[in-house]
Amino acid sequence: MKKLIAKISIPFLCLALSSSLYANEKVYKFTMATTWGETVSPLFDTAQNMADMANKMSNGRIEIKIDSANKHKAPLGILDMVKGGQYDMGHSASYYWKGKDINTLPFTSMPFGLTSPEQYAWFYRGGGMELMKKVYDKHGVLSFPGGSTGVQMGGWFKKEINTLEDLKGLKMRIPGFAGEIMAKLGVQVTNLAPGELYTSLERGTIDALEWVGPSMDIGMGFHKIAPYYYTGWHEPASEMHFIINTKKFEKLPDDLKEIMLNAIRLSAYDMYIQNYDMNATAWQQMKAEYPNIQIKTLPKAIMDEMKKVNKELRNEMGAKNPLLKEVLDSQDAYMKKVREWTIISDYLYLKDNL
Ligand code: CA
Repeated sequence: MKKLIAKISIPFLCLALSSSLYANEKVYKFTMATTWGETVSPLFDTAQNMADMANKMSNGRIEIKIDSANKHKAPLGILDMVKGGQYDMGHSASYYWKGKDINTLPFTSMPFGLTSPEQYAWFYRGGGMELMKKVYDKHGVLSFPGGSTGVQMGGWFKKEINTLEDLKGLKMRIPGFAGEIMAKLGVQVTNLAPGELYTSLERGTIDALEWVGPSMDIGMGFHKIAPYYYTGWHEPASEMHFIINTKKFEKLPDDLKEIMLNAIRLSAYDMYIQNYDMNATAWQQMKAEYPNIQIKTLPKAIMDEMKKVNKELRNEMGAKNPLLKEVLDSQDAYMKKVREWTIISDYLYLKDNL
């Protein structure tokens, strides 16, 4: 009997003790704004996953309330809102703020840059996190990788692209730095709201557009009206970001800080996997429903020209912004080391097993 009591009472005592401890524990409440609407999968899911994990791992001591873009109406203003304290946290992508601070640009993805595994290795083992801290410190915000889309597709084209001439006057939606490269090649770059993309492509207001990849393109329906699906070059590893107001984060006790950081890191990993699976599934579905879709790669002459322009634009930006140059140089140096290994491992494995 004594033995039985000992067996029951110790775990029971621990449980009673721990629940009474937590009952008196302070609850830390955070608000998070996302760039995405609630139905945008897997982007919004990642923010939700992070919040749920932090809540469970902390036994309810962290509560994160998420407002999607439908609520706060400022999808591209997340940095400003977290900096100014309207929200404690955000889930977005660093390159959306390049107009406010050009140094934030390379933490999402650069044309012809690192792939997702390479970029994660750069963030966590190759000095990327330190550089990101240096850039974000002056905004009073902490920034962390928040999930990768992997290699994004180069986009949907109504006509095949064979020569540099074919790009002249082509009307394409391709935002950001990649758009600047395309513009130098004679493309008429336009930026349209996501809701206008399908109709614009259908009616011929634009001839081509890029969005993400099969996982997110399928819902937009572009494959129904533009048969040429070009492979990627411009966003080989687009990384989302969780940002947190530094002062707010510093108020957390050490164990909760650790929980927040782990929830961020794990939800980022989950997104990479979720999106990889969604891409594979969506591609099979597109191919089955629209067998006329053709996967194309831009010809070498065009790629070479884009690489040349890419280098020129990067040099121009770097010359004006020493910190940007430091980040770009760090990525370049890391690429020199890591790419050789990617080729020896993944590339040759795939090439020899086709
Ligand atoms: Ca894109």
